[in-house]
Amino acid sequence: MNTFRPNAAARIAGPAAILGAVGWSLWQWPAHFLWVYPALGALFIWFAWAGVKELKYIFLFLATVAGLVLPGILNPVETPYQMIGAVAEVVCLWLLFFALSSSETSRSAARAALAAEEAAAEERIKNLEDELSRYRLHLDSTLARIRDKGALSAAMHDMGLASNPDEVKARLETLLGNYFPGAAVELRSGAPRDAADKWVAERKIPLLVRNAGTDSRFPKGFFGEAERSFMALPLHLFGRLVGFVRAAAPEPDRFRAEDLRGAELACTLAGVSMENIYLFDKVNELAIRDALTGLYTHRAFQSRLEEEVLRSARAKVPFSVVMCDIDHFKSYNDTYGHQAGDSVLQAVAEVVSAGIREVDFAARYGGEEFALVITGADKAQAAAAAEGIRRALEARSFSFGGKPSRVTASFGVAEFPAESAAAGQLVRAADERLYRAKQAGRNRVVAA
Ligand code: GH3
Ligand code: MG
Ligand code: MG
Repeated sequence: MNTFRPNAAARIAGPAAILGAVGWSLWQWPAHFLWVYPALGALFIWFAWAGVKELKYIFLFLATVAGLVLPGILNPVETPYQMIGAVAEVVCLWLLFFALSSSETSRSAARAALAAEEAAAEERIKNLEDELSRYRLHLDSTLARIRDKGALSAAMHDMGLASNPDEVKARLETLLGNYFPGAAVELRSGAPRDAADKWVAERKIPLLVRNAGTDSRFPKGFFGEAERSFMALPLHLFGRLVGFVRAAAPEPDRFRAEDLRGAELACTLAGVSMENIYLFDKVNELAIRDALTGLYTHRAFQSRLEEEVLRSARAKVPFSVVMCDIDHFKSYNDTYGHQAGDSVLQAVAEVVSAGIREVDFAARYGGEEFALVITGADKAQAAAAAEGIRRALEARSFSFGGKPSRVTASFGVAEFPAESAAAGQLVRAADERLYRAKQAGRNRVVAA
């Protein structure tokens, strides 16, 4: 708290004016000396207000002396009342002096107490403000970390949904790029290409270089200007090291141990996602591919047939089904054994596959029967394809028990939608013609 204090000139001018007025009036009207004391009282009040303690004491002394001396000198005492009046006024001055002093003392004590309280309150406020700003910093960094973690987990979830390994790699790259903005992220597949890759491959742990300038593990100049901060992590697939993920930033101390752990988690998840995709594809492949011949299975044929019916009906183009059965297959089995029979099946599957286009579809329908979907082809075109296969098979030489031999097959062809608009009927129609081909002496194509 600030109280008003007159400046130095006013401190002197004030008392000087009062003293001047008192001196001049004493000289003018010496008989009325008694009113000098109220004027001195005003001087005390001025001193108390101006905070000039020392002068106050001097004037108190002078006023007391004047009170005892003035009545005698200036105006010889005519009545004892003037003397009593002078003493009474001096006593009043003393009382005023004590009242002013004590009020001033208590006022300054109160001021000091208030100032101390104010200082303590200011200190408390400052401490609270410091604490608040520390809390805000902590809150901000926690929120940032929560945001990072949220984004990371969403990105990782996203990676788990990728449908092929390239997509996983792209998402891993994007994820790390977003997680470390401004940093260069690189995915390397294959063997280690430099000392950093080798370091990771040998130790089987990720590498974190906080500051390339002070890192003693790598030769000076190994890291470029843009690689003051550096991370390298291994990428594993089924326990095998298949590549490296590298991240670099031009400023030192960009990556913390926590960042390395996050990146490691992302790499592990990318590896698991790729393994999942591989296994999923493998299981799918097993379900639709015949193990012996590599052709599609009966089930795959059925679903492809349904699809083809819908597609052809929509596009209003025909397609044909060819059923194929190896002639006298039982005899190869009976004479040369089951294994010889299997290799005949494989050879026929090869010939069939070679005889159709990419867009067509070949399946092992049953034991030694094959079913083909010849897309966009009418009966005549499909019969021509079947004839090509028949000839190729007939021309192929086999050897059973050291003796050269031939394998032939019979074919039945039916066209969609001209001959049947339903998948089941279409297969039955082709099967009937296959039966007729057998009846007619085998090794032929029947399309009518
Ligand atoms: P056709 O000319 O009338 O077709 O005579 P076929 O001997 O081929 O006819 P059949 O249907 O009587 O014989 C089919 C034989 O195919 C019966 C079975 O032993 C054999 N077979 C079925 N699946 C396999 C297989 O996966 N491997 C082997 N080696 N033989 C099989
Ligand atoms: Mg058969
Ligand atoms: Mg047969």
